[in-house]
Amino acid sequence: MPAASRRRIASAEADYVIVGAGSAGSVVAARLASAGASVIVVEAGGTDRRPDVKLAPGVMTLYRSANWKYPTLADPTKDGERPPFAAGRIVGGSGAINAMVYVRGRAGDYDCWAEAGCTGWSYDDVLPTFKAIESWAGGADDFRGGAGPIHVEWCGHDHEIDRAFVDAATQAGYLRNPDPNGRDQLGVARAQVNRRRGIRSHSGREFLRAAPRGSRPVLLTRTTVTGIRLDGRRAVGVETTAGLIRARQEVILAAGAIGSPGLLLRSGIGPDGSRHRLNGVGTNFQDHLVVTQRWSSKVPTLNTIGPISAATAAADFLWNRTGPIATSPFEAQLLTDDFQIAVGPVQYQVGQGDRKDIPGTSRWFHRLYGPAAPAGTRPRRPP
Ligand SMILES: Cc1cc2nc3c(=O)[nH]c(=O)nc-3n(C[C@H](O)[C@H](O)[C@H](O)COP(=O)(O)OP(=O)(O)OC[C@H]3O[C@@H](n4cnc5c(N)ncnc54)[C@H](O)[C@@H]3O)c2cc1C
Repeated sequence: MPAASRRRIASAEADYVIVGAGSAGSVVAARLASAGASVIVVEAGGTDRRPDVKLAPGVMTLYRSANWKYPTLADPTKDGERPPFAAGRIVGGSGAINAMVYVRGRAGDYDCWAEAGCTGWSYDDVLPTFKAIESWAGGADDFRGGAGPIHVEWCGHDHEIDRAFVDAATQAGYLRNPDPNGRDQLGVARAQVNRRRGIRSHSGREFLRAAPRGSRPVLLTRTTVTGIRLDGRRAVGVETTAGLIRARQEVILAAGAIGSPGLLLRSGIGPDGSRHRLNGVGTNFQDHLVVTQRWSSKVPTLNTIGPISAATAAADFLWNRTGPIATSPFEAQLLTDDFQIAVGPVQYQVGQGDRKDIPGTSRWFHRLYGPAAPAGTRPRRPP
């Protein structure tokens, strides 16, 4: 992929300047460039061409080395804890460091957005895009796509803990869902993952890097956008750690749920008191909190397999591109109206200080995500 040198950046200009080569930015950049526009994508993180991006166990090193770990305010409901908020800082963004579980979202949620005034976001509106994005191993139907860049398949690793979980959920009255990304999301099912022949299939790889030569966006890695350059009320470029980049048409913010509002606030665009008033920026943040429980098992897990099973797993990956090495941390899921439970036959810790023993129980608890007031969104805080 062409990349402008730092010296050239000082006078760079394009039709579109996109902040963030993450899940969304990669798609938008590739689509605009393939339509003939000149596009510069500015990404604070480094390349995704590294082995830990490819395989699910890589989340352990990625969490440490390709993660913004946005600081958070102390959460009084959690003993004043300040857990860092995880987000990918790498080409591919959070999609390059995440657990690869492919979850499309509830149709009703999109319909609620449309009813609340978000025109174009009902499930019927977004369904064609979901289908265009994916190449589902089960083949195209009314709900699934069969020819898109992101490859989606069943988790692939079959462990008896997963089977026991699925059986238990059906015995408890939950439906066994043949395709949780199809007609309905609710019920219990094996996990679907975005993976192609055992390797993570993410938009940095499948859209940005796969764009045809000649219509590829210019990608600037390890370059952080520090502010939006305004001419009156119009965004005309971005200030970066390597100089100004001008946009002839538009500046597109795709810096993530923390990064985008953070940049707006730092550029004077926000609620009352900001130079340019735009209500809602930096507020109403909601997150998907995770509580992890660890249970001892009577059957071998991926943590306790012996050398023979480990060698079999390696062979399975090399020959079939499946098995424990290609798996996701979450191999089966139950989705209900009120909660979601995901299960996997493996336990590992990501990051220091996320772990907390709950007194009086043998369970292990940690939070991957922080409370609802990330300090990184405050104006003038460094990114
Ligand atoms: C640890 C983890 C596990 C997850 N697991 C799953 C899962 O299993 N399944 C699932 O569906 N979802 C999962 N998610 C959520 C999912 O990955 C995100 O919702 C999605 O990737 C967000 O896409 P995005 O384009 O909005 O942001 P991102 O993909 O985060 O992209 C933002 C990009 O902008 C860059 N950026 C930010 N600020 C700047 C700046 N100032 N200058 C330049 N570049 C900047 C970042 O480095 C990043 O590359 C997980 C997320 C995390 C963090």
